[in-house]
Amino acid sequence: MIALVPVGEIEANILEYLKDSLKVRLAREVVIESELDVPGSAYNPKRNQYYATPIVKSISDSVNGYDKVLGVIDSDLWVPGLNFIFGEAEGIRGKTGIISLSRLRQEFYGLPPDTNLFYERALKEAVHELGHLYGLLHCANPGCVMHFSNSLRDTDYKDSKFCPECVRKLQLQE
Ligand SMILES: [Zn+2]
Ligand SMILES: [Zn+2]
Repeated sequence: MIALVPVGEIEANILEYLKDSLKVRLAREVVIESELDVPGSAYNPKRNQYYATPIVKSISDSVNGYDKVLGVIDSDLWVPGLNFIFGEAEGIRGKTGIISLSRLRQEFYGLPPDTNLFYERALKEAVHELGHLYGLLHCANPGCVMHFSNSLRDTDYKDSKFCPECVRKLQLQE
């Protein structure tokens, strides 16, 4: 079973959308867990961003009893070496990951809102991080959800589904 964990306030609609869609994509039960506070100590005022790694660690410590745990946060995340990240997984086959919604809205770039596009992007990032947690590495196929997204252009190009090769790898690990 997969737990979706809002970290700070997250709109109920997108959590429900992710829950229903992830159930289909990953073929596993998905539940929405209770909200966790955004850890204030992870905030870097100079960058106006949150350091993802300690947030993932704190989600991992707080939420137990699930196969995989995915945090959803509406704050901008970074890790050393990258200006920002859309999401992070604790590691290949780890328990916990996180996605950030803040750069997935058109409004972030001064464009008019597009709810469908926003939901689709969030789903792709969520499936991608869960794919890592279920043992997948990045995929060379630019249309596969496991392709690395350097920018939203990559995210928008790829599908929210695993390519046949990644599906095969997922099944091998069952
Ligand atoms: Zn990745
Ligand atoms: Zn693939």
